Amino acid sequence: MNRLLSLIFPQKCPYCGKTIGYSLTECEACRESFPDKPFTRITNTGVKCSAPFLYEDKVKNAIIQLKFHRVVFNAGSLSAAVARTVCDIYGDHIPELVTCVPMSRDRLKKRGFNQSELLAEKTAALLGKSFVRTMKRDNGAEIQHELTREERINLIDRTYHIIDPSIVRGKEILLIDDIMTTGTTLLRCCEVLMDCGAEKVICAVAAITEK
Ligand SMILES: [Zn+2]
Repeated sequence: MNRLLSLIFPQKCPYCGKTIGYSLTECEACRESFPDKPFTRITNTGVKCSAPFLYEDKVKNAIIQLKFHRVVFNAGSLSAAVARTVCDIYGDHIPELVTCVPMSRDRLKKRGFNQSELLAEKTAALLGKSFVRTMKRDNGAEIQHELTREERINLIDRTYHIIDPSIVRGKEILLIDDIMTTGTTLLRCCEVLMDCGAEKVICAVAAITEK
């Protein structure tokens, strides 16, 4: 069956577009070119985030294809890389609960899925942990280009809410997003989780932008 499927719908490497076998998540050449060590960034606001990749070239393209062209297949390779990063860094101390940066209902309707949730679900499964939706994001707070920095921060402050505090209280949580740019989103989500009694929050993303 898999062989037949691969003839009808050839599966493509997320990074270079080469046709790959059905049991694979990326081609051998791309896998061999993966960075040896994870990237970790700590913002001046204290958010520490790790990623298997920098947000550039082939990886950037794979994430864009996932987010904007619904190539959900790419989430397999990306989340496996996130899971390896989390194992490398946290070893036996990986939180039991995995969650994601939420997407507003409006955007979800438009895009059809939340790429961060997909990555978090797959990463949780690979790590043998539980994925839980912990936060929601308000509508109408996503178009931020024309706003000043201050207005943007105020808006973000009012954007994220905990769905049910009893789920996060006393828990260590792994928070997943697709990319980290300024770290503002991760910071706000960490704050919301900690405000509701989370014990600890660690962050991981598929790719980090260079400073
Ligand atoms: Zn490839």
